[in-house]
Amino acid sequence: MQAIISDIHANLEALKVVLDDIRDQKIKEVVCLGDFIGYGPNPKECIDLCVGFNCALKGNHEEALMEEFEAQNFNPKARSAIEWTRAQLSMLSPSEKAANRKRWDFLGGLEMIHEAGDIMFVHGTPRDPTGEYVYPRDIYRPAKLEAIFDRITWLCFVGHSHVPGVWTEEMAYHTPEDVNFEYKLTDKRTIINVGSVGQPRDGDARACYVILEDDRVRFRKLHYPIKTTIDKILSTSALDPFLAERLRDGK
Ligand code: ZN
Repeated sequence: MQAIISDIHANLEALKVVLDDIRDQKIKEVVCLGDFIGYGPNPKECIDLCVGFNCALKGNHEEALMEEFEAQNFNPKARSAIEWTRAQLSMLSPSEKAANRKRWDFLGGLEMIHEAGDIMFVHGTPRDPTGEYVYPRDIYRPAKLEAIFDRITWLCFVGHSHVPGVWTEEMAYHTPEDVNFEYKLTDKRTIINVGSVGQPRDGDARACYVILEDDRVRFRKLHYPIKTTIDKILSTSALDPFLAERLRDGK
């Protein structure tokens, strides 16, 4: 059994609830598909909770943080959050220098794609690991999905869109609710979006992640102290208030 989480986005309250839930189920192995930081108010604390994960991948927000030109493609709200995050991780802070050094080492060591047997893990898609999204409506763009499935042996776990779901090579799409939060795996190639821990966008404000068992994927959705996160964002002037509102709406 392993837990697969993604898109934490510096939301410490959501991450803690998810990690407690993983621990309660005696799951030892955790994979994170990227976007540890960006948008949210606790980048340092979230990174510190993630350093021991079995596998950690790079998201587009880590890319924007570390590569100046990437952030230029971000919208102003996301870009100013990245700039604020970079200041939080400053190597010039005497009291935080050693801790921030470790955090940059963690960010610098993130993998782009991880493969374990016939299972692949990536933030975006195998053909554009930090850039491309898989959307529910992509079942009506079979050429796009087929090109992605061509690079997958069996299962591919993704994040990035913050919308959980399952796509099969037969061009079917299921929401977690469609499958009653438990998808029984078949021998068909399948893409599973694990949803977002820290900024869900499927209209459900709860933190979302998945558990991979031998023959199934279970979607977990959890309430967390969302008001605390919202208040932290609202009291940080570099973080746009919209980033707080969207948490409440799950959008
Ligand atoms: Zn993200």
